[in-house]
Amino acid sequence: MASQRTLRRSVSCAGIGLHSGKKVTLTLKPAPANSGIRFRRTDLGGVEIAATVQHIAGIHYATGLARNEGSVETVEHLLAALAGLGIDNVVVELNHPEVPIMDGSAAPFVYLIQEAGIRTQQESRRFLRITRPIEMVRGDKHIAVYPADEFKVSYSISFDHPLLRHQARAMSITESAFAEEIAPARTFTFLKEVELLRQHGYALGGSLENAVVVGEAGVLNSALRFEDEFVRHKILDVIGDMALLGAPLLGHLVAHRGGHGLHTAFAAMILDERGAWELAEAQAVPALHEPAAVPLGAAIPVGR
Ligand SMILES: [Zn+2]
Repeated sequence: MASQRTLRRSVSCAGIGLHSGKKVTLTLKPAPANSGIRFRRTDLGGVEIAATVQHIAGIHYATGLARNEGSVETVEHLLAALAGLGIDNVVVELNHPEVPIMDGSAAPFVYLIQEAGIRTQQESRRFLRITRPIEMVRGDKHIAVYPADEFKVSYSISFDHPLLRHQARAMSITESAFAEEIAPARTFTFLKEVELLRQHGYALGGSLENAVVVGEAGVLNSALRFEDEFVRHKILDVIGDMALLGAPLLGHLVAHRGGHGLHTAFAAMILDERGAWELAEAQAVPALHEPAAVPLGAAIPVGR
């Protein structure tokens, strides 16, 4: 049985909002068991917004949340880092409506969490365990989740561009796999879309410092962090969006050509399909070929 986890102490960082281009300070604070992930706007007198499906708002180029007069934008990379490192309870203080974009990946948030340290809490964690398949199709995009004893993601993308016509990756999302293989993957955008975004007042803080920009002839940045950095970032995004379920997912998520709109609509659909999942404390379901149980009191040999 797994225990809930929070941070050992508070930690802060500063950065800029991707869309506003303005400076923002973010502080992660330890929080009591069963309180979940909550954003707190210190510039609005401490308005709180829980990171749940109920508060999803404004899915354009990033995932936003809103409750009454408060809102927070671009939450997905921070939520991915918290989910990827198994943090159940935390308060995220912001003095601005946007989570700082940092380098466009979740790696700076992983460092921040590791810097704070992780504290195990008394209460046991409850997983959202998928018991029956759930599927969603929207045109040429689809997303589904199937029963599995672990959290696994299979993602594929395809674009009408020679550099990333097709990329696919499947992996089990353990803490170390997330930190090493997924968190460093940066967000990406196409050069031809950048001007359009700016005309609409988005991406004012965007630069080669916080996004991979794909031009006609290649990537404008000096180098990619992984050959398939694009699909890895999609896995990062979907992990962050699934954190809005409010409980760690136990299931195999399969997505093709998704984005924040599809991910978050699917998270809401999962919660609506009450017959297709259960909240379970135990992580493991008996495996098909489980070894015979060791009788209580039996001597267990210790290797020397
Ligand atoms: Zn992203």
